[in-house]
Amino acid sequence: MITPDLPYVPPGTVLTLNSADWYHPDEATRDDPHDVVVVVEKVHSDGATATAVSVWVTGHAISCTWPTSESHPPCIELRVRVEAIRRAVAAGPV
Ligand SMILES: [Zn+2]
Repeated sequence: MITPDLPYVPPGTVLTLNSADWYHPDEATRDDPHDVVVVVEKVHSDGATATAVSVWVTGHAISCTWPTSESHPPCIELRVRVEAIRRAVAAGPV
């Protein structure tokens, strides 16, 4: 399978995304562009094509108590620009 040239993103990586770096397909219009900080649970690069510009990312809000509390399904699911993920990983851990 051909996947985008994405670095491995370990679970727990914190991605700080500005409003241009992410979107959710269910939200046709976003009246209120805002930054999102997500603690990565998984970057779903496996279903993406080589030319994909964005991939699904699931994770948790920074305010979420995961993983110290009982594990639960990711509370955040959104599309993130591949470029933003590369940038975050290149910058290294915060
Ligand atoms: Zn959570």
